[in-house]
Amino acid sequence: MAGLIKRDDVDAVRDRARIEEIVSAHVTLKPAGVGSLKGLCPFHDERTPSFHVRPAVGRWHCFGCGEGGDVISFVQKIDGMSFTDAVEHLADRVGVELRYEDSRTGAATGRGPREEPGRRQRLIEAHRVAAEFYSGQLFGPGAQAARAFLAERSFDRSDAERFGVGYAPTGWDALMRHLQGRGFTQAELVASGLVSQGQRGIYDRFRGRLVWPIRDVTGAVIGFGARRLYEEDQGPKYLNTPETTLYKKAQVLYGIDLAKRAIAQQKRVVIVEGYTDVMAAHLSGVETAVATCGTAFGGDHAKVVRRLLGDTTAGGGLQLASGASLGGEVIFTFDGDAAGQKAAVRAFGEDQRFHAQTFVAVEPGGMDPCDLRMARGPEAVRALVDGRVPLFEFVIRTTLRQFDLDTVEGRVGALRSAAPLVAGIRDRSMQLGYARSLARWIGLDTDEVRREVGRAASASGPATRRPERRPEVDAAQGPASGMSTPVLAMPDPRDPVARVERQALVVALQYPQHVPAAFDDLGEDAFGVPAWRAVHAAIRAAGGAGTGRTLGGGAWVEAVAEQAPEAVAPLVTEMSVAPVPEDREEVIGAYVADVVRALADLGLTRRIADAKSRLQRLDPAADPDVYRTAFEHLLAIEAERRRLRESA
Ligand code: ZN
Repeated sequence: MAGLIKRDDVDAVRDRARIEEIVSAHVTLKPAGVGSLKGLCPFHDERTPSFHVRPAVGRWHCFGCGEGGDVISFVQKIDGMSFTDAVEHLADRVGVELRYEDSRTGAATGRGPREEPGRRQRLIEAHRVAAEFYSGQLFGPGAQAARAFLAERSFDRSDAERFGVGYAPTGWDALMRHLQGRGFTQAELVASGLVSQGQRGIYDRFRGRLVWPIRDVTGAVIGFGARRLYEEDQGPKYLNTPETTLYKKAQVLYGIDLAKRAIAQQKRVVIVEGYTDVMAAHLSGVETAVATCGTAFGGDHAKVVRRLLGDTTAGGGLQLASGASLGGEVIFTFDGDAAGQKAAVRAFGEDQRFHAQTFVAVEPGGMDPCDLRMARGPEAVRALVDGRVPLFEFVIRTTLRQFDLDTVEGRVGALRSAAPLVAGIRDRSMQLGYARSLARWIGLDTDEVRREVGRAASASGPATRRPERRPEVDAAQGPASGMSTPVLAMPDPRDPVARVERQALVVALQYPQHVPAAFDDLGEDAFGVPAWRAVHAAIRAAGGAGTGRTLGGGAWVEAVAEQAPEAVAPLVTEMSVAPVPEDREEVIGAYVADVVRALADLGLTRRIADAKSRLQRLDPAADPDVYRTAFEHLLAIEAERRRLRESA
């Protein structure tokens, strides 16, 4: 078994992998000042972006939850990989040939990656080979039923190819033999979920089925969805990959790889119900369509979607006159049954800001996008999506449909049922708006409806307006205490001294080329805040800003992080990503000089105070020489500070 990846190769991977590209596959990034990008943190729930990436130093940091690191740690965290797997995954992408060290001798071996079942890269490779195998089968002699299924739904050969649709042959071991022929072990096949395990060994999981490759956001196949084709098949209509290290059904969205760009651009995502609906929607020009795979749309799906939308709705989901809302739109096209509605409501939990962004598009005849495209063409699919109604409206009107509004009894019943729904809308102006709409939909006086809504509200107790949990930290001020380094006490972010000291470290990490040489003359006591002092010590240990000038960018930050104790390294990352208030190219030099000067000024001021206090404690009569020396020392520091201030 091969051991560690060689250090040089890890560095080469870190160097070549473009962090902004890797992160962008999961998070929509927007410019945040020169050389800096930000987006919604994928590691905690937030609505205001505090996740920063600084490509020049190859680092990321979230000022909300305190997570941060380099491109490798990002991949580790986001994909739940080990360090080795993450490096191998990235090496694959950027074309670095990895060499391994034998763990016992430390000598490099020419051997490839470990042959260990369950390794992510191997599983992805197995899926790639399987997808190729299945799509190759679709046009073979045994796949007539599969081709007929597609043709009946108006999908032709090029459509099948665009989505990678394939056919899993009948029989028990066609795929298995194919994969074994390509060198995959039995253990790998089991770990991949492509085979099932029975009494007498393993056999193909998908047999005699039409299969869709399910890809992750980066386009790697991580599982399959398979539809039954034959009468004699006793299995379920749809069968998916089981939970594996690659495939987590609570997060997987079919079509996300194809839709992600359109979702980010149009700030809209359309959730349809099945594989054929995704195909039909995309082929009809609705390129934001995705579907869950064998499960209802849930909170984890919502997180994935919101990240791609780059959702930054700040207020209470402002409703525009047109019915559109600010921020992204999430549109569900499920058939209008109660289960579907509940799923949509539940998906965003208690947070009504997302209800306000949630829309429902239901075809009156109950047709799904696939049926609709067949029956009335692509325009009808686009019209279905364009005709979306807000979730609140949809839920209320669905309730009203249970009543005969032509009778007094029906209207009273409708009002009693719908009023609590309106009362539950927390946004005050939206609640009023829906009360008015409800009056119109039932055909009642607005005041009467508002009274009933008021009664429903008080019946359900006082408005429980829970304060929104918003881990918001002013990015320029650093993390709140204990967030990233519980071991070190963090200063009060409002403390002006701590801020100046912090800024000096930030510029030394980000702009060593602009840092005046005087910075490297600072002693180990130049920083008053213990945590900052530790970062400064790491900078000194790494060779000071002078070394930073030579190394530059990510290598410099990496060198400092390496010198930092475990509890301090996250601070180094955070500071290397922190936004700088003044980072325009033409003034950054002056800004850096100012910060370092302010820091030196602080240090001198502290020493002056120390010297004065010492003088006060000395008795000039008792020991005139000592007193005179101390006095001259004070004068010298004061003169130094004066010179410094004059140089500004
Ligand atoms: Zn975060």
